[in-house]
Amino acid sequence: MDNRSENTVSDLFVIGGGINGCGIARDAAGRGLSVTLAEMNDLASATSSASTKLFHGGLRYLEYFEFRLVREALIERETLLRAMPHISWPMRFVLPYHKDMRFEADTPTSKLLAVVMPWTKGRRPAWLIRLGLFLYDHLGGRKILPATSTLDLRDAPEGAPLQDRFVKAYEYSDCWVEDSRLVILNARDAEARGARIMTRTQVTSAVCEGNLWRIETRDTETGDTTTHFARMLINAAGPWVGDIIQTKVRLNSSEGVRLVRGSHIVTRKLYDHDKCYFFQGTDGRIIFAIPYERDFTLLGTTDAEHADPSLTPECKPEERDYLLNFANEYFKQQLSDDDIVWTYSGVRPLYDDGASSATAATRDYTLKVDTESGAPMLNVFGGKITTYRRLAESALAKVGNHLTVEKGRWTAGVPLPGGNFPVDGVEDLSAALRRDYPFLGADWALRLVRAYGTEAREMLGDATRAEDLGVEFGATLTEAEVRWLMTREYARCADDVIWRRNKLGLRLDTPQVRALDEWMGERAGQMAAAE
Ligand SMILES: Cc1cc2nc3c(=O)[nH]c(=O)nc-3n(C[C@H](O)[C@H](O)[C@H](O)COP(=O)(O)OP(=O)(O)OC[C@H]3O[C@@H](n4cnc5c(N)ncnc54)[C@H](O)[C@@H]3O)c2cc1C
Repeated sequence: MDNRSENTVSDLFVIGGGINGCGIARDAAGRGLSVTLAEMNDLASATSSASTKLFHGGLRYLEYFEFRLVREALIERETLLRAMPHISWPMRFVLPYHKDMRFEADTPTSKLLAVVMPWTKGRRPAWLIRLGLFLYDHLGGRKILPATSTLDLRDAPEGAPLQDRFVKAYEYSDCWVEDSRLVILNARDAEARGARIMTRTQVTSAVCEGNLWRIETRDTETGDTTTHFARMLINAAGPWVGDIIQTKVRLNSSEGVRLVRGSHIVTRKLYDHDKCYFFQGTDGRIIFAIPYERDFTLLGTTDAEHADPSLTPECKPEERDYLLNFANEYFKQQLSDDDIVWTYSGVRPLYDDGASSATAATRDYTLKVDTESGAPMLNVFGGKITTYRRLAESALAKVGNHLTVEKGRWTAGVPLPGGNFPVDGVEDLSAALRRDYPFLGADWALRLVRAYGTEAREMLGDATRAEDLGVEFGATLTEAEVRWLMTREYARCADDVIWRRNKLGLRLDTPQVRALDEWMGERAGQMAAAE
């Protein structure tokens, strides 16, 4: 095992390559701070690839009176859409109404109604949904996203897959985002602005020496250890935020994280239109049904306490049943286990606000600076994918209390790599790509534009035939793309490519995945030898 010590001192050392760590690294690097980021696995390998993938205000949080969070997130949706029109797009959500829909018993709204309108008996009245949607439309200053409308499900195509008892629905706007690509593009942009991004690098300890942090890392592939120095430590370790505080830094802190698992199931496509459904259950919870990867439907999510971050989250049989039963309350087509083609699960690292249920725990973020050790450390709790950019701005404001930060906020309106085109420009970009690369099929071109935006051309280079892109691994994944992902986007193995850089894992079979893994292993060896 090799031991190295780095002589340079970074301003910030960020622990965690999820959306919060990468968002903070990008913002800080763009303000001229020197930044080092360590991620123990692949970027976005934990919670930030396991979300429902919505840039949303969070309609249900209104019932918890989380107005600050909802307003910030609503405003943020359009800022984010403009900066990344390739990986994010508007979506319409259909909310079927039925008088039996119930509240969760302990929301501030349900408690209030139980007192002032006891006859509602825990049911969610239609006027309350309309009020919520009115606020949703107006709290966040929409310019791009259309307003709420009402649907008669007896005539509308959105009613066709639903059971006949649903006759009325509300339709509102939120946005989709490719969560793991969002993380990777933030990391790339941070690196382009001078940050150092290290994946497969675990932080094993951090101690203060004078007014500097001395951080030990271990390369999880070679076992080599390295010592780094930094002026400020940023703990963005998501579900491990408490582990960093307690076992890596050994701080005497009372701040706690509440780990709440959420699982999703993916089925073959359940309906033909491109809108999502927002289903309310009789237990007061809600789930989404979302068109996914062209041929599939995504259903989720659940809320379950999760004991320990080291336990890999999995969709448990009871969670599968819960989601199937929930969907079966709405769809005509009755789903069973056999319809599930994939599941995934993630852990929300929520700030422990003492809420009674996992569903009720706050989704807002909390940033806590600790100076007990001598040098400052910022601990990040909670947050949403949607608020990552604002969280990074708040984090930089706190950094500014300890280090000199000369530049102010800058990230609003600055596109992520490949996102420098208009919000409604995806079709034009795909058409132009097909004109210049006539061998691309429509679905292939769209996939590339959605993943790489204006950079798709650079990835395709001067290819004039599909064969010019090298080995074909299946489902339009080519050697040229995999090389791009390995050299530009930190991919090391097949899973990095097919689950976090794209979702071709839904289409490739086991021998194809093995062939990709072997090819990447050989290629990585050649790259290391050439260095
Ligand atoms: C089921 C579910 C659905 C969700 N849906 C949405 C949604 O639709 N919209 C939305 O806005 N938000 C959503 N969220 C919330 C959002 O996904 C999270 O808030 C966000 O991803 C948290 O990001 P993070 O960077 O804090 O954590 P993570 O993504 O978990 O990143 C932390 C990283 O730190 C690394 N790490 C830990 N310890 C070490 C160490 N010692 N050394 C080096 N690295 C380390 C980990 O490997 C990990 O990659 C959802 C969350 C869940 C679970």
